[in-house]
Amino acid sequence: MINHPNVNKILYGGDYNPEQWTPDIWEEDMKLLRKAGIDVVTINVFNWAMLQPDEITYDFAKLDNTVKMVTDNGMKICMGTSTAAHPAWMARKYPEILRVEFNGMKRKFGGRHNSCPNSLVYQKYATRLAKKLAQHYKDQENIVAWHVNNEYGGACYCENCEKAFRTWLQKKYQTLDALNRAWNTSFWGHTFYDWEDIVSPNLLSEHFEERRSMFQGISLDYARFNSDSMLENFKAEYQAIKHYMPEVPITTNLMGFYKPLNYKKWAKYMDFVSWDNYPGNEESYSETAMKHDLMRGLKDGLPFALMEQTPSVSNWLPDNSLKRPGVLRLWSYQAIAHGSDTVMYFQMRRSPGACEKFHGAVIDHVGTGNTRVFRECAELGEELIKLGDSTIGAKTPSKAAIVFDWDNWWAIEYSAGPNTNLRYVEEVLRYYQGFHKRNISVDIIGLEDDFSSYDLLVAPVLYMVKPGVDKRLEAYANNGGTLIITFLSGLTDENDYITVGGYPGKLRNLAGIWVEEFDSLPLTKSNTFCYQNKKYPAKMICDIIHNKGAKSLTFYEEDFYQGMPVITKNQFGSGKCYYVGTSSSDEFYQHFLKDICDECNISPIMEAPANVEVTQRCKNGKTILFILNHSNEDKKVIIPKKGNDLLADKGYMENEEVIIKSKGVILLAYEDIE
Ligand SMILES: [Zn+2]
Repeated sequence: MINHPNVNKILYGGDYNPEQWTPDIWEEDMKLLRKAGIDVVTINVFNWAMLQPDEITYDFAKLDNTVKMVTDNGMKICMGTSTAAHPAWMARKYPEILRVEFNGMKRKFGGRHNSCPNSLVYQKYATRLAKKLAQHYKDQENIVAWHVNNEYGGACYCENCEKAFRTWLQKKYQTLDALNRAWNTSFWGHTFYDWEDIVSPNLLSEHFEERRSMFQGISLDYARFNSDSMLENFKAEYQAIKHYMPEVPITTNLMGFYKPLNYKKWAKYMDFVSWDNYPGNEESYSETAMKHDLMRGLKDGLPFALMEQTPSVSNWLPDNSLKRPGVLRLWSYQAIAHGSDTVMYFQMRRSPGACEKFHGAVIDHVGTGNTRVFRECAELGEELIKLGDSTIGAKTPSKAAIVFDWDNWWAIEYSAGPNTNLRYVEEVLRYYQGFHKRNISVDIIGLEDDFSSYDLLVAPVLYMVKPGVDKRLEAYANNGGTLIITFLSGLTDENDYITVGGYPGKLRNLAGIWVEEFDSLPLTKSNTFCYQNKKYPAKMICDIIHNKGAKSLTFYEEDFYQGMPVITKNQFGSGKCYYVGTSSSDEFYQHFLKDICDECNISPIMEAPANVEVTQRCKNGKTILFILNHSNEDKKVIIPKKGNDLLADKGYMENEEVIIKSKGVILLAYEDIE
């Protein structure tokens, strides 16, 4: 959460880039933004060229003007550091700051995210700029947050990085012998004799395409190293700012399930999590919900900030559909419903040129407030003022959790075999939807988080078992927890080295099974099984399971492993472990998770019709139910408890039937009885 004394309502605003316009436009901006209820602007996100026109000159005069103008208009500031795009003079003078791509191509000046994270020149100037900004604005009381860089991402394979990778490896493995063993380099005679032998794993070396590596251990470590390298960039700017402004919280904007960076590790160094929500045209509301829940789970369930969303349309998809009337409001409340304490946009005024000129904005190219989008933004702004601090800092209680782990993601998707169609996030989503479609609150947590507060824990495709994880999962089940693990689990250690002695490796005792083989099916083929008298498909991977103490719940119906178990249940101490040996249909996960939730006494927050989402946030003995109608039809809901609708200013009786309009939202507040 944004822990700042000046923040006592849902912050409403977003990226404002007045540099792209002449001063006569700024006056109009201020008038319109005030009219829309905007109370925070994110400024200075891409201004490095303006702030530092050459190696020795720093000129903050134009930024001072912007700061003064927005301050005079009563707005708060989320201050950027401008380090996501270096100035042209720097690239000309120091080509070493330019990245090398995965295919070995050295970049020239251009784009953004084009700075090598291990360039000492980039590090020096980025940190210096952050320091000078913090020093200059340290007394600016309306700066309520710092926004370091912008959407950190990508990877670099240049010589700076290769050298830094070797240092990173020496620190991790200490000796080349240990490294050679961990990576199993005796395969194909890849033994390294000297640290200098090690090169970046890309298309010039170990990869035959981006996702497929011939040496997964190397690629996995490079993914970790690349994420760590950018995290070091963030930490350096963070420390430079903290020195001058210790009270102001610092973040950088994340991007949901973004593979190149281990956000779980990053979140430890961020004062609060913030992220940019840009659902694709076909993205389901469950998928968006899962991203919000991932962001909330990065930092122990604390509220996060929605740093960016588009008021209407994005620009980078092949086709960029408009948000239909009401959808902006609905999706903004969905973010709050899952734990956001802000509603923020990219961008305030629509850019006049370059690649974001068709990205939506609060103020469109027409330049007036007389647009559908502006009116929707202004109506939402008014509502958020009315909500005050009622949701700020509120928690989102869950009895069930799903584990998500970046190392596991990298490892399983680098693996050559058993099935390149396997997508970790998709398998996680299958389980998530099994909860979410029934409005059961679920946290998404990391492997290092405390499991003990959950009655039910799901760890889909836990291919990699890092040291101690098996013992922690055993302790969880032993103490009464219900654990679900799945196919392709327990196969490797933290270096992608197979745990020999039978699958699922260190999870064998817990699951009470032995997986002898796994059959990988093409997308056009499936096996079948019958669960509680209903037939379901077994897709993608079919684990061939022998019970070693577990009980079978269902069996394959076809092929040579017909009659062998698909799903097993093993009593473990006072808890249990379910093993689901295949991937199946959405209907199966709904059915199966309903049974397990019933067994664990986990019930939906509220019974609701299809496509009506319900979440809850709790604070100071009060609960707010968020009832969100994502469907294209009006729906009838039955109010579960007497309470007040915070948006409609009216009360409802218990069991009252209420029509919630298509794309409509009800925020039902009631006092908790306990
Ligand atoms: Zn580099």
